[in-house]
Amino acid sequence: MTRKSSKPACRVCGCTEHNACEEGCFWVRVEAHSKPLCSACSGTPRDVVEVCRRVRSVFRKFGIVIDTAGIANVVLGALLRRIEARIKADANNPDATWGGR
Ligand SMILES: [Zn+2]
Ligand SMILES: [Zn+2]
Repeated sequence: MTRKSSKPACRVCGCTEHNACEEGCFWVRVEAHSKPLCSACSGTPRDVVEVCRRVRSVFRKFGIVIDTAGIANVVLGALLRRIEARIKADANNPDATWGGR
């Protein structure tokens, strides 16, 4: 049996409307001819670095010390998975319309 999947799925992580990313996401606007992309996977690796910096500065600002490592591990782990998926997807998809502009 061929399972026809007409549901949009994120081109990077494969999440769908009913199975969103663990930290939550929404569809971001993409070019009409390109595949869906969710908010968790949008942005360039450079953006992700920026996010990491912000997370770190928030920790500092509020003087969070306890559990910082645990929280950071979860956040950074999820981000790293995305970066890796993104880089892989980039390698398979030399399409010039792919993000990063
Ligand atoms: Zn995604
Ligand atoms: Zn997602």
